[in-house]
Amino acid sequence: MCTGWGNRALGIDQWRLDAALSVLVARTRHVIAVDVGGTETKAALVAGTASDVRAVRQRRRATTRDADAVVDDVAALVDELRAGADDVEAVGLVVPGVVDEEDGVGVYSANLGWQDYPFVKQVEARTGLRTAFGHDVRAGGLAELRIGNAKGLRDAVIMPIGTGIAAALVLDGRVYRGDGSVGEIGHVDVGHGDPCGCGQTGCVEARASSAAIARRYTERSGNPVTGAADVARLVRAGENDAVVVWREAVDALARGILLVAALLGPEAVVLGGGLALAGPLLVDPLRDRLDGLITFQRRPELRLAALGDEAGCLGAALLAIDMLEER
Ligand SMILES: [Zn+2]
Repeated sequence: MCTGWGNRALGIDQWRLDAALSVLVARTRHVIAVDVGGTETKAALVAGTASDVRAVRQRRRATTRDADAVVDDVAALVDELRAGADDVEAVGLVVPGVVDEEDGVGVYSANLGWQDYPFVKQVEARTGLRTAFGHDVRAGGLAELRIGNAKGLRDAVIMPIGTGIAAALVLDGRVYRGDGSVGEIGHVDVGHGDPCGCGQTGCVEARASSAAIARRYTERSGNPVTGAADVARLVRAGENDAVVVWREAVDALARGILLVAALLGPEAVVLGGGLALAGPLLVDPLRDRLDGLITFQRRPELRLAALGDEAGCLGAALLAIDMLEER
C-alpha cells in the first residue's frame, strides 16, 4: 500500500484507509454455484464479489434422488462449467431439507432421501475445490438481501412459495441459520384444520403452497390443472372454485405472515418462488387480508422477490465468496 504522501499529516488513519481501499478494489472471484432443488438442479459459473455476483454460464439438469448420485451430478457440473475457466476458486453448494452448514452435512431430506450425508467432504474430494455449503432457502434469502429486493433491510423475511413454503429470516442484517432447522413457516398451524404431509393439521402450506393450490382446485372442481399458474388464470377469469381456493390460500398465508410479524417485527416480507409470479393477483388480496387481521403488530411491507429461481444459485455463489473472503 502506498503511504508516501503523508496520510498521517492529513489525519487519516492508515488502517481505515487500507480497509476502504480494499472494499473499493474487491477482487472479482470466480466460483461454481450449485443449487440442488427438489426436482431440478441449477448450476452456474459465477463471477463477482461479496456484494455483486452474476452468472457467466449456466446449466440445469433433473435432480437425482440419492445423495451419492447428487454428488456425481455436482462433480460433473463443476467439470463442465470449469472448462476453459482456470481461475475457479471454490464451489458453493446448497441443498434443501435440514442442513448443518458448519459441518457440511445434509442432515435430512424427506424428498431426496438422505440422512447425515457429508456433502462437503464428498464434493471437495471429487472436485479438489474448497466447498461452501448451505440451505437452499437461506441462500436464496442471502442473495435477495445482498443483490435483490431485500437489499438494505435490517429485519426481513424472505419467503419462497413453491411446492412447499419456508422462509429465510434476516435478523440484524444477517441471515439467521440457527441450528439448521429454522424458518419452517409453511408448517405453522393457522387453524384451518386440513391435514398436512408433515403429520400436523392446519399448516400454511397445506393451503397456500403452489402444489396445494393446484391440488385443492382439482379436488373441488373435478377439473385437473398442471399447477398454481393455471389456477391463477382461472381466478383472473372469475371462475368460482378457483376464486375460493385462492382466497383460502391467501388467508392461510396472511395468518402465517401475521405470526411472523408478531414474533420478529420485520420491515418487509419478500415473496418469491413460483407463486410470486402471480404478482398483484397474490400481493393485493394478501395485503388486504393482512390489514384485516393485524391490530397492534408492526405491519410488514409486502414485496416481490427480484431474483426468481436463480436466487438459490446466486446465494450459493455468495456463500463460496464469503468463505474465500473469510467473511
Ligand atoms: Zn405441515
